Amino acid sequence: MIRPKTRPAARSWFHVAQYKTAAAQSSEPLLEPLLVRNPATGDIISLIEPPTSEAVDEAASPLSRSNVLSKLAQLLEERVSDMARIETLQTGRAIREMNAQIGRLPEWLRYFAALLRTHQGFIAPTQGKLLNYVNRVPLGVVAQITPFNHPLLIAVKKLAPALAAGNSVLVKPSELAPLSLLEFSELASAAGLPDGVFTVLPGRGPSTGAQLASHSLVRKVDITAGTQTGRSIGAIVGSNLAAFTAELGGKAPVVVFNDADLLSAVNGVAFASFIASGQTCVSGTRIIIQDKIYHNFMKVFLEKVGSIARRIGNPSNPMSSMGTVISEHHLERIHRMVSSRNSGKVLIGGYRMSGISPLDDFDLSRGCFYHPTVIEDVDVQDEIWEEEIFGPVVVVKKFAGEAEGVALANMSKYGLGAGVWTSNLSQAHRVADSIQAGLVWINTHHRNDPSSPWGGMKESGIGRENGIEALEAYSQSKSVIVNTATAEESQVQDDWFSEVGNKRRYG
Ligand code: NAD
Repeated sequence: MIRPKTRPAARSWFHVAQYKTAAAQSSEPLLEPLLVRNPATGDIISLIEPPTSEAVDEAASPLSRSNVLSKLAQLLEERVSDMARIETLQTGRAIREMNAQIGRLPEWLRYFAALLRTHQGFIAPTQGKLLNYVNRVPLGVVAQITPFNHPLLIAVKKLAPALAAGNSVLVKPSELAPLSLLEFSELASAAGLPDGVFTVLPGRGPSTGAQLASHSLVRKVDITAGTQTGRSIGAIVGSNLAAFTAELGGKAPVVVFNDADLLSAVNGVAFASFIASGQTCVSGTRIIIQDKIYHNFMKVFLEKVGSIARRIGNPSNPMSSMGTVISEHHLERIHRMVSSRNSGKVLIGGYRMSGISPLDDFDLSRGCFYHPTVIEDVDVQDEIWEEEIFGPVVVVKKFAGEAEGVALANMSKYGLGAGVWTSNLSQAHRVADSIQAGLVWINTHHRNDPSSPWGGMKESGIGRENGIEALEAYSQSKSVIVNTATAEESQVQDDWFSEVGNKRRYG
């Protein structure tokens, strides 16, 4: 059994006492500590000491932060298989996926460690005898709220830039999958991250999450969640005038043109649709296929889906092709959306899997296994076309001309990921340009890299993860303006209220 390691209340109180003593001894006014309570019991579950301005100045130098992130990358690399095992246990995702995913996470820590070593301030080209230098400084205390589907990936994606920028970070993982992050926090301490700089708060969304987002000392909230959750948190964060990044829902279109390479397109669409049992924000859930390739595509695609289904077994088996969905509750919602649709025909799947797996004799009836499902020709007004299903269910639709394909792709309130499959170079770029999405993949799907901006348009969110943009979004500029004129020059030019009516500077 994996035991969550949480900061005990007694230790938090000890920190309060320590903090008050330190504050009493200093000439600084007491800055109110950030107490996070469990609303169900009133217990304090964690405490964050907001940095004083001196503490911000004293905060670890960029070089030492970079060293800690590099060390953390190394420690994580040594624990990839343990972390992957935890992810599989808590999410039901296939171990093969989790090994591949966790194996890449050190890249995020190393990327932001490297950015820190090369990031430079600048001198603004102001007029007159002034030197205006601009640095980036941390925001202070920031909160991150993460979902269940990629528990550690999404947390590390957010943590790496936040820590690199010098902030103190509170992370509330999904109540459904908090264990890998708690384990990761132990690695962070071992890597040399000072106490209180990174705290995991494993609580529920409407209680711990909402309270965290509401705290006036929190200067930024970064959430990955459903669009409804993002909206409700955004309203709270707005009223606190804090910064906000929200990575929300999606309903990714994948447009397959007649001239696409058939096998590559089928393999790509299968990956887009069924990786993580369809529980990713960029899952290719609306497959839009041109008329002349439609028949052949569907034949090979349905064979592929049948093959995936036959190889579903124990998620801990490295040969298992696809895992479960996260919970009974989620499975019931998926099945309700499939069975209550008003249009379309189920070509394969459409039911919960049960019985013994042909792969490894695992009893599928024990878990939340849903058969990979393909539904043909649904109306664009149907819930299953419009709403995120977050399960292994895709809808397919035929189109004739390019304009129709693009129109279908854009027929969604979401705008996160999209795929285009074609061998026509001009068409690929033209269509990518017309699709309303923050991420468009051409002849591939779901590529993610620490250097590559990630985020959505329309109702898929606001702000971007990854890249220099993410580091900038976790910091703020500080502009220092120095008068470089001599005292004599200043006396003449800077006496605004002089009785001699010389031309004076203003601003
Ligand atoms: P969710 O919205 O149910 O929960 C996400 C997180 O928000 C959890 O930690 C939860 O406890 C918290 N939360 C829920 N209600 C809250 C509230 N009222 N106040 C504060 N916190 C609250 O989402 P989920 O089911 O865990 O994850 C799936 C969703 O996340 C999907 O919509 C998916 O598209 C989205 N997602 C988006 C991206 C992206 O990059 N855009 C990536 C992964 C997942």
